[in-house]
Amino acid sequence: MSKRYTITAALPYTNGPIHIGHLAGVYVPADIYARFLRLTGNDVAFISGSDEHGVPITIKAKKEGISPQEVVDKYHAIIKKSFEDFGITFDNYSRTSAKIHHDTASEFFTTLYNKNEFVEEVTEQLYDQEANQFLADRFVVGTCPKCGNEESYGDQCENCGTSHNATDLINPKSAITGNTPSLKQTKHWFLPLNKHEAFLKEWILDGHKKDWKPNVYGQCKSWIDDGLRPRAVTRDLDWGIPVPLEGAEGKVLYVWFDAPIGYISSTKEWAERVGKDWEPYWKDKDTKLVHFIGKDNIVFHCIIFPAMLKAEGSYILPDNVPANEFLNLEGNKLSTSKNWAVWLPEYLIDFPNQQDVLRYALTANAPETSDNDFTWKDFQARNNNELVAILGNFINRVVVLTNKYYDGIVPSPSELSQVDENTLAAIKAYPNVIASSIERYRFREASQELMNLARLGNKYLADEEPWKMIKVDEARTKTIMYVALQIASALGTLCEPFLPFTSTKLKGILSQSSLDAETKWEDISTKEILLPANHQIGKAELLFSKIEDKAIQIQLDKLEASKKANEIANKITEPQKETISFEDFSKLDIRVGTILEAQKMPKAKKLLVLKVDTGIDIRTIVSGIAESFTADEVIGKKVTVLVNLAPRVLRGVESQGMILMTETPEGKLVFVNPNSNTTNGLKIS
Ligand SMILES: [Zn+2]
Repeated sequence: MSKRYTITAALPYTNGPIHIGHLAGVYVPADIYARFLRLTGNDVAFISGSDEHGVPITIKAKKEGISPQEVVDKYHAIIKKSFEDFGITFDNYSRTSAKIHHDTASEFFTTLYNKNEFVEEVTEQLYDQEANQFLADRFVVGTCPKCGNEESYGDQCENCGTSHNATDLINPKSAITGNTPSLKQTKHWFLPLNKHEAFLKEWILDGHKKDWKPNVYGQCKSWIDDGLRPRAVTRDLDWGIPVPLEGAEGKVLYVWFDAPIGYISSTKEWAERVGKDWEPYWKDKDTKLVHFIGKDNIVFHCIIFPAMLKAEGSYILPDNVPANEFLNLEGNKLSTSKNWAVWLPEYLIDFPNQQDVLRYALTANAPETSDNDFTWKDFQARNNNELVAILGNFINRVVVLTNKYYDGIVPSPSELSQVDENTLAAIKAYPNVIASSIERYRFREASQELMNLARLGNKYLADEEPWKMIKVDEARTKTIMYVALQIASALGTLCEPFLPFTSTKLKGILSQSSLDAETKWEDISTKEILLPANHQIGKAELLFSKIEDKAIQIQLDKLEASKKANEIANKITEPQKETISFEDFSKLDIRVGTILEAQKMPKAKKLLVLKVDTGIDIRTIVSGIAESFTADEVIGKKVTVLVNLAPRVLRGVESQGMILMTETPEGKLVFVNPNSNTTNGLKIS
C-alpha cells in the first residue's frame, strides 16, 4: 500500500569535502531506503542540504582571508557533486544560506516567540575587547574542567566529549586574538527543554522502546535521565540568520536551532519546484518522517528538534531516527584535520566508475550497531570475492551463454523440473526477504540477502551445467537458460537500491526497457515471468573488475604518508623542566671532544663503543647511537661531552661520560656539534 514518506539525511557541514564515514553513516543507507520506497510505489520526499552557518565556517573564512559566503559556496559545490557522483537520489538538496531557509527559520522562531516558548535571560559571556566580539563555542579555547585537556573548545571538549559553556573553561583564550577575554552581559533566548521532559519521556522512553535502535534509545534515555536544561537558541555572531526581534541586532539563531529547520525549507523548495504542496510532508499524521544521521547528532534529532516541533504545534514527529555508529579507517578514527580519511572526489580518481563497489563495501560492513572498521583489504575482498566472483560471474555466464547458444534471444522452456520450480519460487520470495531487512533499517543484512540471490543463481548453473547439457539435450538446455535469465532479471531490479549504477547497466544488457513496463519490486513476486521467451538481450559486458593488490597498496601508502605527516606535525615541544639554580648547572662539566675510534658492541643493536679525546684524557664512552650511525661515520666527529657523569658499566664495558645528542621527529639521532674551530677540552658554560 502506498504511503507518504519524508526522509531526511543529515545536513553536511560546509567547511570541507565529505568522506567515506559520512557516506557509510548516513547517505548510503538513506539512499537505499529512499530508492527502495520509490521502487515499491511510495510517495517519497528525500531531503537534505548544506549546513552553512555556525562558528567553524567563520573561523575558516578568517584563516583563509575570504568571506564565510565564499567558504560555503566552495564546499557546497564540492559536496553536492559528490552526492551526484555516488548516485544519492535526493529529491532536493538545498542550503541553509538560501533565502527560503532564512524566511522559514525566522518564521519558526517568531512562532515560538509569540507562543511564549522561549525564556529570555541576560547572562555574562566571554568578550574579546580587541576583536570587539563575544566569544562563543569555537571562538574560545581553554582547559576542559572535566578532563584537563588544554585545547578544549567553548562548546565541547573533543578529548572527553563533554559539552559545556564557554564560561566553564579554565584559563580561556580568544581563538581570534589569543587574548584573555573579559565577561560582558548579553541577552539571549533559551528553549526550556526541561519543560518538555515529561512529553519526551512518554514519547521516546515509553513509545519507542521497541522500534528505535538500542544505541539511539540508550543515548536518549541517558540524556533524559540526566535531566534536561534550557538551551540557548541565539548567539552573538555576524554570520547566520538574524534574530527577528527588535533590539537583537548583532545576534543570530544558533546553528543547531536553524539547521534542522533546513529539512523543512528544503522540502518547501522542492515542492515549489515540482508544483506540490509541502505541508502534508511535514504536517499530515499519515506521513512517516525518518531522519538518517550519525550518532553524534542523536540528541539534536531525538530530543531538541522534536521539542521544537512539539512547541510549534503543527508538525509531525519522526517515526524513527536510525542513527549509525562511527566508521573507523584502518583501525583509527576518521579525521578531517589529520587527513585520515578516504575523500570521495579522490576515490573516484583512483577507482573511476566504481561507485557501486564503495557503496557495497560500506553497506556490507556498515556501522549499524557498533563502531566498525573500513579496511582496504576488506574493500578488495568485497569486490573480488562477492561482486566479481558471485554477482558479476553469474550475470556474465548467463549473458555469454545466451548469446552463444541463441544469439541473445531468450529461449522457450519445455517442461520444468522440480529444481526449476523451486528456483523460480525462491526468486519470488526475495523481494519480501530483502524488504523486511530494509524496513527494519538493517541494510547490511539486506545487502547479504541480495548476494544470496546471486549465489542461488551460481549454484543453479553449477548444478544444471548447461555447457554440458547443450551437447546432449537441447530442449533441457533452453529450459535451464530460461530459468537462469529470470534470476538475472530479478537481480537487475533488486540490486537497484544498493548498486544503482550496476542495476542500470544490467538492465541495459538485458534490454529490460524494451519490455512493456519497467519491472517494479513487487513484480518479481507477482509476475509469472520477468524475461519472456523471444525477448532479445544485448551483449555481455563486465559489471565488475578485479581489484589488484597494487591498487590497494597505493591506498595504504597514502594513509601511511598521512600518518607520518601527522606524527611530524604533532610532535609537541616538551614543556620546560623545573627551574634549577645556577649552582646546579655549574655542577655539569661539559667539554668539547673528538671521537677517535668507534666499534659496534657485540650482540647489542643500539650500542657503539667510542674512544673520545676530551682534552683531559682519552676515555671510553658507550653510546646508544648504533641505529642512527655506523662506526665509520662517527670517527673524527667533533662532539659535546658530559665528562663528570658517574661511570656506568654497560655490557661489561665501563662508560665514562655521555655524548650530547638530540632526536628529530622522525626518530633520527643528531649530534650536538661544537663549532669546528674549537679545540678538545674547552669548557661549555
Ligand atoms: Zn575534556
